[in-house]
Amino acid sequence: MLVLGNWKMNTGLAEAVRLASDVVHATADARADVGVCPPSVWLDAVAERVRGSRVGLGAQNVYPEASGAFTGEVSPGMLAEIGCRYVLCGHSERRAILGESSALVARKVAACLAASLTPVLCVGETLEERDGGQAETIVADQMTASLDGVDAPGSLVVAYEPVWAIGTGRTASPEQAQAMHAALRSRLTECFGTDGPAIQLLYGGSVKPDNAAELFGQPDIDGALVGGASLDAAGFAAIVAAAG
Ligand code: PEP
Repeated sequence: MLVLGNWKMNTGLAEAVRLASDVVHATADARADVGVCPPSVWLDAVAERVRGSRVGLGAQNVYPEASGAFTGEVSPGMLAEIGCRYVLCGHSERRAILGESSALVARKVAACLAASLTPVLCVGETLEERDGGQAETIVADQMTASLDGVDAPGSLVVAYEPVWAIGTGRTASPEQAQAMHAALRSRLTECFGTDGPAIQLLYGGSVKPDNAAELFGQPDIDGALVGGASLDAAGFAAIVAAAG
């Protein structure tokens, strides 16, 4: 099981350092793997706090080139050097607000794998797509397009995050999430053969301490990507504890 906190564009420097310390203490006895993804400007400071603990460091984004004239961007090698282990790729907010295509996301996934980082590929459908009744095919196709050119999954993690459940307080039911995860698992097996079933599948979308256990009880849910609830160390630790 793996539980990652996505702090998005939240926290000041002091708050980020304090939150990282609190998460380190609150999850010290956890059995699940844990990670936090602070804003990129605080990665270094948070790296100091989590070093030597069981909390992994994650970035919220990356650019798929090693170096060069890419103003404002950060490379996989830079993230690795600062101590990152995880990198979110293709979060729905980046796809919707910043226009990231699945083709670009696929390059990010490949670049992370080449730099020995763990890409956390985010996929999910809109409410309109779900209401259209084809959500599982749409999301599996989005995942396949976001893995174009990736020959071997390495440490790849996939996060299913229904867009209508992110930051809305609406969570996919455990049955909806399980059905989607099963569909993604079978598509991953089509893509990667015997390496497919081992790929960790996280659920994200308004995961809270009071709904985490039921989600984690589903056979194809291997953890969570947590947004809002990860800004509270005690609540985040309760989600981590629910992961066993
Ligand atoms: C997210 O942004 O990845 C997320 C799951 O957010 P929230 O938990 O706030 O819905």
